Amino acid sequence: MRQLSYQATPVQEINDPVFREAGMRVLIKREDLNHPFVSGNKWWKLKYNLEEAQRQGHRTLLTFGGAYSNHIYATAAAARELGLESIGIIRGEETLPLNPVLTFARECGMQLHYVSRTAYRNKHEPEFITGLSRRFGDFYLIPEGGTNELAVKGIGEFAATLGDDFDYLCCAVGTGGTIAGLINGLKGARQIIGFPVLKGVEYLKGAIEKFLAYPYPNWQVNFNYHMGGFAKAPSQLKIFAEEFYQCHGIRLDLVYMAKLLYAVVHEAKSGKFEKGSTVLVLHSGGIP
Ligand SMILES: *Cc1c(COP(=O)(O)O)cnc(C)c1O
Repeated sequence: MRQLSYQATPVQEINDPVFREAGMRVLIKREDLNHPFVSGNKWWKLKYNLEEAQRQGHRTLLTFGGAYSNHIYATAAAARELGLESIGIIRGEETLPLNPVLTFARECGMQLHYVSRTAYRNKHEPEFITGLSRRFGDFYLIPEGGTNELAVKGIGEFAATLGDDFDYLCCAVGTGGTIAGLINGLKGARQIIGFPVLKGVEYLKGAIEKFLAYPYPNWQVNFNYHMGGFAKAPSQLKIFAEEFYQCHGIRLDLVYMAKLLYAVVHEAKSGKFEKGSTVLVLHSGGIP
């Protein structure tokens, strides 16, 4: 059984006047540094899926994503490292030249297969999967965004390594798999706050609950920081990410991490975190 390489990651303090004035400490878990290509939460989401794929004797991983998907990028890199084949089912038409994400995926040996947006919506239908099997032969299927029970299990294992030197854990939310794993891993301790980066995703709460090992009450989802929707980056967000990098030396991608840190700063300014508390922010990776 082959495993991905893993680099231990630090927790750093973010020294910022905003947080001092709010009477709180903010730490950031630099899980973005755990692997050069399969970084952050994607490493943990893939961990048990990669084990299961190999245990079942599959030689190929197949997964789904948009043209800018971090999950496509991570899966392609993981497959290459473990000597597996990979197929990416990409939403929409091919646009040339390929963007950096898909260029990288191709360089990792991922076979890219484009499907129309309409067909893509049916990606979970048995007929669609059967069609893929007829076309590509045997594969281990990982859902869009990589979220399934095994992904949540991997994140849960990660959460258990975080120790207890914090009161709040803040994370970005896409499909909800990561926050679900964090909630399970912390087993009812501390407060977990997720910030979705998509607009109109009130269904996420239910999606997260589905993956919980127990109906833990110590979590919430704050829908106020999507900033226009997935991969939308208004100029105030770009300026924020640039200033954050100048002040703290930490790069933030505009899809996930810039929105998360922007949210934490604004929640701090409006006094949403208790005075004297410590907030741990999860740097879950991303492509800056
Ligand atoms: C994919 C991703 C997320 C979202 O994770 P979900 O499990 O889909 O909620 C958060 N941050 C980064 C950097 C990601 O790449």
